[in-house]
Amino acid sequence: MKKSCFCVFLLLLAAIMIVGCSKDSGLGGNGDGTLSPDTGQSTPGTSQPPDGGAQAPPDPPLYHAIMEYGDPEVIKNNNGPLYAYIRFPQAGDATDAVIAEWAYGIYDSAETELAGMLVNDPTATGEVNVHFDSWLLDGKYAGILQFGSYSHLHAAHPTDIVQTYNIDLSRGVFLENKDILDMAQQEEILGLLRVMLIAQHPHTENLIADMDERWLSLIVVGSDGLKVVLARYEFFPGYFGTLTVTLPYSGLGSAFLLGADQPPLNPIPMAPPSTDPTAPTPTPTPPDPTAPTSTPTPPDPTAPTPTPPPTDPTAPTPTPTPNPIPIVPPQSGDIDPTRPMLALSFDDGPSAKTSLILDLLEQYGARATFFTIGNLVNSHGATVKRAVSIGCEVAGHSWDHKNLSKLSESEIKGQLLDTRSVIEENTGLALPFFRPPYGAVSDTLRSVSRELGFALINWNVDPMDWDTRDADLIFNAIMHDARNGSLILSHDIYGATAEAMSRVIPALIAEGYQLVTVTELLNHKHGALEAGKVYYN
Ligand SMILES: [Zn+2]
Repeated sequence: MKKSCFCVFLLLLAAIMIVGCSKDSGLGGNGDGTLSPDTGQSTPGTSQPPDGGAQAPPDPPLYHAIMEYGDPEVIKNNNGPLYAYIRFPQAGDATDAVIAEWAYGIYDSAETELAGMLVNDPTATGEVNVHFDSWLLDGKYAGILQFGSYSHLHAAHPTDIVQTYNIDLSRGVFLENKDILDMAQQEEILGLLRVMLIAQHPHTENLIADMDERWLSLIVVGSDGLKVVLARYEFFPGYFGTLTVTLPYSGLGSAFLLGADQPPLNPIPMAPPSTDPTAPTPTPTPPDPTAPTSTPTPPDPTAPTPTPPPTDPTAPTPTPTPNPIPIVPPQSGDIDPTRPMLALSFDDGPSAKTSLILDLLEQYGARATFFTIGNLVNSHGATVKRAVSIGCEVAGHSWDHKNLSKLSESEIKGQLLDTRSVIEENTGLALPFFRPPYGAVSDTLRSVSRELGFALINWNVDPMDWDTRDADLIFNAIMHDARNGSLILSHDIYGATAEAMSRVIPALIAEGYQLVTVTELLNHKHGALEAGKVYYN
């Protein structure tokens, strides 16, 4: 059962990739997906050296997000059985839809595969975790590397997910590999790849087999060179992970076809996705003929869907300006313990939306707590510094949004300590608490947290902003549920959340609440926090 499900999942993902490739060939894309079992991205220094075949788990991958192109969009499911966090870039370009379609397809495949498992094991859970790096080259080209993994409770190893996209921004089209590299110079390119591979990943030196064009199948235009992605298991043993090699453009010379002195390319123009009747529709993914037909998805009315929520005809239609913004004076910096208070908390940033929320908090003299993803902190250093400078708190929400309740002790330690370090380097704050992704807690997570001196902070008000993405619904949910002592969950990665906050913050103040940090709220109620304990308010 285990094995067959795993294979079915590979088939499903392969089917997606084949769809992607056939479409890409028509659209000029080079997104040729590569899948192999086992865990995700590896960076220099985190791979295990060859050790005679020992199967020690690799260190948790550490990775700093590079986001030179696009705003991050997140497909997220906080309520199992499929825990999902799929981040992909959207830039308002004609190519956005294809990238979004790929991301939703990953979610749908994982959900379908898990649905098959749930028939035999109602307790089965899965997790899909995908991140991206994106680069801009001379403002003319963008490169995107999507990577991550899918795992479920019974899998021996997670499944890798790797996808690349290269975009000609002036034309709004995907580039094919042959538009980027002159394959007539393949020998020279492979020679450079070998040199740079050994320089950047020295442990590969004695294991490099004969190179051919397959080694150049996943390439990404970077700002500092061409990235060649060597997917896990394709070229090296699995414990090497997925390797990325950067080839300097100066070394590629005329083999790099996008250089300034090259004649303009003529890639196949991409048809607008909505007008191409032959293109697959974005979501939901149509039934896959390779899917197990005997295992229909159990209907789960409580499970949120990753697709934009359909309009509920029975829901009251919000009027255009249902909630006039009350005019309130900024709240004072001191807490009056005799007056009601509550804490706003924001997860999954920092992002471009965080600044909008900081503007509002500053305007109203309010405070909040930001639970940040460690790998995003360095690229938003000014934002987290500003948050702290106006009295807000910046705490951790794991390094890369993995479900910490599924990780080993050493992996959890890496996630918590690396995140605390990067926050402390940027803000000077090292708070004695964090928020676990999905609110998911295990005994191991509790005991490691106790050992490291962290309390675990969940929430007792969830306006479901990650699901609805609707400012009116978010506003209504918060105003309906807010009480003295509430700890409110939101996400500083959605425009709808920032928009809702422009009304939520003054409305809560007008109702008499003091908007305080998590530390202020919990210290007021509990005194000092206890390491290893989970708090909801
Ligand atoms: Zn989160």
